[in-house]
Amino acid sequence: MEEEAIRLKEELEKVRSQLYVFYELTKAMRTTLRLDEIIYIILTGLTAHEGLRFNRAAIFFVDNQENKINGFMGIGPMDSQEASQIWQSIEKEKKDLYDLIDNYNRVKEEEIKPKFMEFIRSLSFDLNDKSGLIFDILSEKKSLHIKENHPPALKDDPLIQKMDLSEFLICPLYIKGNPKGLVVVDNYITKKPISADDIKTFDMFIEQAIGAIENSQSFESTLTKAHTDSLTSLWNYGYFQYKLDEELTKANSTGLPLSLMMIDIDDFKKFNDTRGHVQGDKALKQISDVLKENCRKIDILCRYGGEEFSLILPANNKKEAALLGERMRKSVRDAKILNYTFTISIGIATFPQDCQEKEELIKKADKALYQAKEQGKNKVVLI
Ligand code: GH3
Ligand code: MG
Ligand code: MG
Repeated sequence: MEEEAIRLKEELEKVRSQLYVFYELTKAMRTTLRLDEIIYIILTGLTAHEGLRFNRAAIFFVDNQENKINGFMGIGPMDSQEASQIWQSIEKEKKDLYDLIDNYNRVKEEEIKPKFMEFIRSLSFDLNDKSGLIFDILSEKKSLHIKENHPPALKDDPLIQKMDLSEFLICPLYIKGNPKGLVVVDNYITKKPISADDIKTFDMFIEQAIGAIENSQSFESTLTKAHTDSLTSLWNYGYFQYKLDEELTKANSTGLPLSLMMIDIDDFKKFNDTRGHVQGDKALKQISDVLKENCRKIDILCRYGGEEFSLILPANNKKEAALLGERMRKSVRDAKILNYTFTISIGIATFPQDCQEKEELIKKADKALYQAKEQGKNKVVLI
């Protein structure tokens, strides 16, 4: 009976500690949008005593251009000597999760150079090699538990060899639907077997981590180039479609409205024909800048095509969108760009009040824009 009570108490302790770590780490991950900081927090969570308690954790990211996967970061000891040093100092200095996360500042400044971190960063594997574990895991969608006695197919696996892996968990990182990296954890020093509970917690934790990575700015910024219009630096048409889908899904679940603004420069052909295409390009860029200055951080301003722009306004109802439209219309009119007075026409439609889905929303905003032109241009029209 007493044994059972002890077991239950231990289990309760474990669940409590897991809840704590989930709560604290999700909070910590929300404090930054930098990919490197988020990864450090994730690895700390995987290895800290208050966290998932793995001895080592490492993250790799795919480099699509080179078709390689490279070590990005790792936390853990290189050998048992370093392990006891690290673990003793954590114990002695009573470092909590936040102290461990703070350590990253010292790593960044190169005040400390953890050997395992350097080691992981030195690793790179060719993705043209389609025979190894890495290739397999990137085409899987779930984590894999590899036991101590590796199957023959894994005997010479480069990742296993390099990291000297015995029993371990490996998991692909699907970011925005694509395999962008992987995580490896093991108990290199203690050789503690990985339990079914460990795997469950690990999977849950990775799911959280993927959300944070997806939100990260620097991850976005690597994707940014493909989505940016080179003349205006605004988002391009493809990204507009992608974001509108995403924002509409959000609006659907939060119940908040979403407004869409279509903006078209009035009589731009006339300017182009008289001043030439190069001046036309300059004007386009400067008008984009004026529009951008009027946007909030969360608004998504895109070059829809030619001299036409689209603006996604999350959480904005029609009235708020109309106010912004007026402000933009006046700003452009008063901007005196290239010694010329440009004007714009704007059409606005709002979800869910005007429509149920994306195509209809675009069509309605377009219709409003057409009406603005019909009514003499330099106008904001609401559908
Ligand atoms: P409206 O007021 O009805 O919108 O008249 P508009 O002249 O602005 O519209 P129209 O669709 O007739 O012509 C758009 C012109 O915009 C055609 C082209 O000369 C110019 N344009 C479109 N894209 C670019 C671009 O990338 N660079 C330059 N310089 N001009 C562009
Ligand atoms: Mg026009
Ligand atoms: Mg046009």
